[in-house]
Amino acid sequence: MTTAAVQRPFINGDFVDLAPVATFPTHNPATGEVLADVQYCDEAVVDRAVAAAAQAQPTWAQLSGTERARRLRRVADELFARNDELARVESLDTGRPIAETRLVDVASGAECFEYFASVAATLVGEAVPLPGMLAYTERRPLGVCAGIGAWNYPLQIACWKAAPALACGNTVVFKPAELTPLTASVLAEIIIDAGLPPGVFNVVHGDAECGQALVAHPDVAKVSLTGEVGTGRAVMAAAAPTLKHVTLELGGKSPLVVFDDAALDDAVTGAMLGNFYSQGEICSNGTRVFVHRSVHDRFVEQLVARTAKLRLGDPLDPATHVGPLISTAHAAGVRAAIDAAVAEGATPAAGGAAVPAVAPPLQAEAYVQPTVFVDCVDHSRLVREEIFGPVMAVLAFDDEDEVVARANATPYGLAAGVFTRDVSRAHRVAGRLDAGVCWINTYNVTPIEVPFGGVKQSGIGRENGPAAIEHYTERKTVLADLGSLEDPWADD
Ligand code: NDP
Repeated sequence: MTTAAVQRPFINGDFVDLAPVATFPTHNPATGEVLADVQYCDEAVVDRAVAAAAQAQPTWAQLSGTERARRLRRVADELFARNDELARVESLDTGRPIAETRLVDVASGAECFEYFASVAATLVGEAVPLPGMLAYTERRPLGVCAGIGAWNYPLQIACWKAAPALACGNTVVFKPAELTPLTASVLAEIIIDAGLPPGVFNVVHGDAECGQALVAHPDVAKVSLTGEVGTGRAVMAAAAPTLKHVTLELGGKSPLVVFDDAALDDAVTGAMLGNFYSQGEICSNGTRVFVHRSVHDRFVEQLVARTAKLRLGDPLDPATHVGPLISTAHAAGVRAAIDAAVAEGATPAAGGAAVPAVAPPLQAEAYVQPTVFVDCVDHSRLVREEIFGPVMAVLAFDDEDEVVARANATPYGLAAGVFTRDVSRAHRVAGRLDAGVCWINTYNVTPIEVPFGGVKQSGIGRENGPAAIEHYTERKTVLADLGSLEDPWADD
């Protein structure tokens, strides 16, 4: 896809042409080229999408789990088969290197459909033994679930929300981020082609207002948001009047702790993966890298040397390591954060705020050099606030209790990392870190089989793994008396 096209909402099994209607452009962040004009969905269109989802839901839920599973597996197969095509669209829309999107994004979405197909086929309730009674529980779908996505991993986010919801018998209205609307439409087509009934998966496009219309809609039972902490607060508050279920996957400022006995090469790789993959636009990034003072200088030396070798360039070039940020505005914000960190006294050991040299037609202002800060202090904005770009703060520490306390001194709690060869320490420290996900001797791996989500202000609820079922079903309890009913008012 290289020429401008029109992106329309997908409602009740097909694209709907809203023309004449307001549109907004989606750009290739690498070049600024317009990829498509997107039709804006107002409250009336959101209402139409929710109505389609509400109408489709009972029929979808009444299919046997095995039948739902069969169709969800077809979605997975099609995603795998179209990996390269979808990866290319994702790279065009997000600016993320094709080497990443080919490897991670589509496969993660496909595996999610594969995994939750198995869940659909095996979803069961429980029998509870009671004297003289039969008691059992059923897992009931919630109804219409709204998914609202961030712009960094659009297809993966759409799949992580759609697959568990559909597996449990719900239907979905998904709003991708305004900046990255393209792959959700392809997913919608794939879902319908795989034999899921019209209306089970719908896509609406727009900004915060479009999201708000979804969250406020009385026929939406649940909202799952991936976004900033502030958006999470707004969504939770807006969901309160109709008492919707919410899952919130929000931001973070995660710690990555490198002990003196760590395999240093691996720890440097982990820190780079946790800061520079996807240009640093990953919620779970380990942006506060605490390194034991005795290995700090060696760690920084290796880190700086390897960071200098990262290749910035065209996201569609398989040799590119670092693409543009999502927009020139976001890149300017990240560069301002780098300037502010310098003003606060931190030293850039690699990178910095200067606009890097990239050859036209790439727009240099969209790029930020991978930046490593040393001489950082815990109370600085650099160390406290999420930047969502390729900016790493390295901090020295002396002992375990100290580093755990400093690592936990944040309102966030999405992820954490520990690098050490000491097995006891690895698990002890992992146990003490306030985080929804903690990696030992690796970073940012998110297999579909395990739950993902944050504690503290990084979120509520979990995606993936068996835990996701709890967030897309509710239990119904049935109690049957097996004898004759005793009359408490009978005459003695
Ligand atoms: P935003 O919070 O700005 O937006 C997320 C989505 O919510 C977008 O679709 C946005 O629409 C929509 N939205 C904004 N305001 C409202 C509202 N009041 N009601 C309903 N919907 C609304 O996040 P970004 O897209 O900027 O993504 C970056 C953030 O996402 C970072 O903080 C990052 O850490 C977090 N994130 C968390 C992940 C996790 O799993 N924990 C994973 C990935 C990112 P629009 O696009 O038009 O603004």
